[in-house]
Amino acid sequence: MADLVVAGAGMAGLAAAAEARRLGAEPLVLEKLSRPGGSMRLSSGVVWRHRELERFLAECSDGDERLQRLLFERLDEDMGWLESLGALVLERETGNPLTSGTRFDPAGLTDALVEAAGGVRLDDALLEPAADIPLILATGGFGASRELLRKHVTPEADHAFLRAAPGSTGDGLRIGLAAGAATSAGLDQVYARAMPAPPARICEEDLVRLSQLYARHADVTNERGERYEAATWSEIDVAQWQLRQPGARAWFAVPAERLGERVRERSVGEMMDAAEEAGAPVRREEDHVIVETVAGVTTTLGGLAIDEHALAAPGVFACGADAGGIATGGYASGLAAALVFGRIAARAALGEAP
Ligand SMILES: Cc1cc2nc3c(=O)[nH]c(=O)nc-3n(C[C@H](O)[C@H](O)[C@H](O)COP(=O)(O)OP(=O)(O)OC[C@H]3O[C@@H](n4cnc5c(N)ncnc54)[C@H](O)[C@@H]3O)c2cc1C
Repeated sequence: MADLVVAGAGMAGLAAAAEARRLGAEPLVLEKLSRPGGSMRLSSGVVWRHRELERFLAECSDGDERLQRLLFERLDEDMGWLESLGALVLERETGNPLTSGTRFDPAGLTDALVEAAGGVRLDDALLEPAADIPLILATGGFGASRELLRKHVTPEADHAFLRAAPGSTGDGLRIGLAAGAATSAGLDQVYARAMPAPPARICEEDLVRLSQLYARHADVTNERGERYEAATWSEIDVAQWQLRQPGARAWFAVPAERLGERVRERSVGEMMDAAEEAGAPVRREEDHVIVETVAGVTTTLGGLAIDEHALAAPGVFACGADAGGIATGGYASGLAAALVFGRIAARAALGEAP
């Protein structure tokens, strides 16, 4: 008989299960898909935090400060713990002076966590709370549910592209609410990236490579020709805007002299070339290149309300994208929140000190 049930084998669920094992408990981890890892396995693997707490709190100003402080304080130690499990580190920096963190190999990270968790039961979705046994909801939010995106985020949801694993259809939210949990602030907020528009063909392996992250260098317009100016370094504001435009579309026009600008390891021109090669509509004019993009929903930012022990309802804990209130109003690392609150949820579920 298991000591606790964990729904979801992505970053949050596996971190929770591995922590439970470390404490000597026997977790039962259920995963809806036929492979573990969720969106974590498809991600860039950068686990990060803002370098300064004040900046984090200011950028994510609608979040729950108690949760944000915990994330900031715990993350570095938790990343050390990940490394101690054998997760392969690719880089010890984020390439962004405002943030610090570590880039892990996503497949290696998943494998190390699965082993530390003691295995996962695949193709087995949790659909209702387990009786008399603590439950950790770690199902990755509702980004893969067009219905819930339409209800909570945007009427244009049907036109958006899913830039994430397909299993996160809001099961955690539904089960948590049925158990008496409340929703967090910011249920309408989503982390998304502009992606090459149809007829572009994009496979899972290309979700990172094909993202069009250069709105700051572009003239961004919607179908009606209305302009939007990027206001944040993460371009989360562009994504939130684009998701609500007709067809979730935006056109990024870059003047020729800015094609050489670099965003992390890629130039703007390289990102636009990649979009064209994938099949997106691209126009090359004398002094501009213009790419048609579609908003690619990556993860929802709102979810169940939790306290500092990741408790959402009696006996029910939530972590990762199932828990809201952390990046609300801005953007923060989803992998970091999943790691820290996954471990916190396991300790609380087993009655251990936080
Ligand atoms: C292309 C891409 C790049 C990204 N890059 C980064 C990055 O560099 N840094 C960063 O911080 N974040 C990044 N992210 C976001 C990050 O991957 C997520 O924030 C993180 O994975 C959330 O963790 P989670 O455990 O909540 O969800 P997931 O890791 O997605 O795991 C949830 C799991 O739950 C399963 N599940 C759903 N319903 C059920 C059910 N009823 N029963 C059982 N299982 C269920 C799902 O199938 C899934 O496997 C990226 C995401 C993508 C897609």
